Amino acid sequence: MQYIAPLAKLIEHFRALPGIGTKTAVRLAYHVLDMDVKDARALAAAIVEAREKIGYCSICCDLSDENPCRICGAEARDHSMICVVEQPQDVAAMERMRDYHGVYHVLHGALSPLEGIGPENLRIKELLNRLRDGTVREIIMATNPNVEGEATAMYIARLLKPLGIRVTRIAHGLPVGGDLEYADEVTLSKAMENRVEL
Ligand SMILES: [Zn+2]
Repeated sequence: MQYIAPLAKLIEHFRALPGIGTKTAVRLAYHVLDMDVKDARALAAAIVEAREKIGYCSICCDLSDENPCRICGAEARDHSMICVVEQPQDVAAMERMRDYHGVYHVLHGALSPLEGIGPENLRIKELLNRLRDGTVREIIMATNPNVEGEATAMYIARLLKPLGIRVTRIAHGLPVGGDLEYADEVTLSKAMENRVEL
């Protein structure tokens, strides 16, 4: 089917989003055409504003509209403890738990030879830079409990061992193959409490 050009363009943009197939893209595009122009403008503006105002914290690589982010900049946090996670969403999940008071480091992915993701594609160099001044005493590997997450935790543990820093791994209270992002607070809290030495 041939769509009117601006509609075809909108469908293409929706289709490029994760988890959205052609059918959903078409449905969303028609929905936009049904919207008031005012609402369509607000949607477009929200997308641009989020993209323009949110960047990466130069310390922990989390998404933030401040640099350093609120967590890295907080004196009340324990800066001797870094919890390493795969994605910014994982920081949000850990923060919902409320009983972790250390800081974070976001890798932006996990090692995956199959997908061609190697150490150079993750924010590992940035993590190593943070260890130079001797403040950090413990690194908690909170990557996802799947093959890639485990491989990433082991890789980083091996890098850090010679530096004399304690490296721990959150316990397997988490469902294997599950994402940290979707773990409930109690499960996460237990996983942190029962973390093991790597
Ligand atoms: Zn930060």
